[in-house]
Order: sequence, then C-alpha cells, then structure tokens
Amino acid sequence: MLELLKEIGAVLEGHFLLSSGKHSSKYIQCAKIFELPSYGEKIGKAIAEKISQHKPDIVIGPALGGVILAYEVARHVNARAMFTEREDGRMRLRRNFNIEENERVAIVEDVTTTGKSVLEVAEVVREHGGQVCCIASIVDRSVEKLPFEVPFYSLVKLELPIFEPNDCPLCQQGVPLVKPGSRKHIV
Ligand SMILES: [Zn+2]
Repeated sequence: MLELLKEIGAVLEGHFLLSSGKHSSKYIQCAKIFELPSYGEKIGKAIAEKISQHKPDIVIGPALGGVILAYEVARHVNARAMFTEREDGRMRLRRNFNIEENERVAIVEDVTTTGKSVLEVAEVVREHGGQVCCIASIVDRSVEKLPFEVPFYSLVKLELPIFEPNDCPLCQQGVPLVKPGSRKHIV
C-alpha cells in the first residue's frame, strides 16, 4: 500500500513544516490519491474490506480530506456517505444529513496523527444518536497511542522522521523549508 501511495505521488520527499511546528523530510499528500478516481476507488475498497465486518449504515468523514474517502468507502460497504464540516471552529453535521437513532457509523479520514478531528466527528455522531462502530484512515502517522474506544484500522502505518526546528539536519544543510499545500518556500 505504501508502494501504491508512492506510485500515486502522494509521498513527498523534501523539507516540510508540519502543522505541529516540527520539521520532516517526508509528507503525505492524500489529496493526490483522489486526483485519479481509479486510485481513489482502490483505496476506498481496501478500507471497505477492513471495516465491512462492522456493518456500518453510514460512513462519515471530516471535510475536506474525508469527503471523497467517505463516499468511496460507502460505495463498497453499501452504506450512506456523509461529511462533517467546521462552522465557527466547531465540527457539525450540516446540509440536511441525518443520522437515525442507533445507526452504525464508521468514521474515516485521510491521515490520522493525534485522532483529534476523529474524536470531534465521533461527538457529532453521538449527539445525533448514532453509534460509532469503527474508525479507519488511509495513513496512520500517530506517534502516541490513539485515544479511540472502537476498533481502528489503517492501510499504512508510517513512521515519519520528525525534527525539532532547532535540531533539524535539513535546516543545517540549508534545504528550503516548504509548507505542504502551499508549494511556497517559507525560508
Ligand atoms: Zn528543518
């Protein structure tokens, strides 16, 4: 699966500023997976195979990264697809999406680092009466144990080299620092 991500061009090598403020020589650009629908379908199917045993009625993901993924996974487990989005900083279920009492909901996201956004989605699901049956992501980039109470699946477990800014070999070599998504050098 890591080979597939590399083939897709989703694994970037360079010198990246992570949202945590730390630096890394690798970055996963999951949006790249869905540039070609045939790849997106493959990834969705692979996750569906892992979670179908939980028989979800709904597959839900946080916008933006989880929108197409939820749709592709839902296609293969024959469930409804939904997404949550932030409004005034708070995760919400909008656009008339509806979860019935006790419906089984699988949460999916592209990259899991701390699990924070998944927990926010889980709270939204419970507020609407649904029960979270499992969680799945394409890439598990976590370094600490994830705070999930339901089964968690990932297609790739990735140990990214992560450096403190003041102790980064790439900085010392003078490699330009890039903020992923912006394509701009920031140093
Ligand atoms: Zn650096």
